[in-house]
Amino acid sequence: MNFADLGLSDELLKAVEQAGYTEPTPIQAQAIPSVLMMRDLIGIAQTGTGKTAGFVLPMIDILAHGRRRALMPRSLILEPTRELAAQVAENFEKYGKNHDLKMALLIGGVQMGDQVKALTEGVDVLIATPGRLMDLFERGKILLTGCNLLVIDEADRMLDMGFIPDIETICSKLPANRQTLLFSATMPPPIKKLADKFLSNPKSIEV
Ligand code: AMP
Repeated sequence: MNFADLGLSDELLKAVEQAGYTEPTPIQAQAIPSVLMMRDLIGIAQTGTGKTAGFVLPMIDILAHGRRRALMPRSLILEPTRELAAQVAENFEKYGKNHDLKMALLIGGVQMGDQVKALTEGVDVLIATPGRLMDLFERGKILLTGCNLLVIDEADRMLDMGFIPDIETICSKLPANRQTLLFSATMPPPIKKLADKFLSNPKSIEV
């Protein structure tokens, strides 16, 4: 399998080449075409399998079209910890450097003022931990009604950390016809239940 067979744009193929990747990992080979076709996805994959590029690369292609609006992020990636959120942000910067995409990080331990300022300028992708996002949402500083693409990453760690009620609330604030991608190393019953409730006709990939 070749990166060129997955449906990514030439700009993304260039970014992949610059990253030094010669061929897609199994999760990338399966996830990328499916995400580009706007399907919901359940990816059962550990860290280290290349899953981040599996969703970041097609997201960049999807977000390359469309318009930013103040306070209304166009896509949302939920991460259980600020370290993981920062890693995903680095991936976005690396693969998205040929694109004019705005990213904002919403994580605990960082001055909230600066994070709110970024939102008022409009963002294409918001990378957040559930606690900080809920906090801002409850203060009316953010609208999730323009968010048509949601990634719930490391869902089993979210469960361990008690974030499932927050995730349910966040999901209910997003448009119902959005695209949702869920990644988890394991599929315990509460995660299966979450997927049944918030994903529609998902493609399942296990690596
Ligand atoms: P992840 O599982 O997303 O945390 O990625 C694990 C590591 O694999 C990261 O350091 C990536 O830079 C690297 N990686 C991702 N995709 C590929 C690929 N297709 N070929 C080689 N390395 C990759």
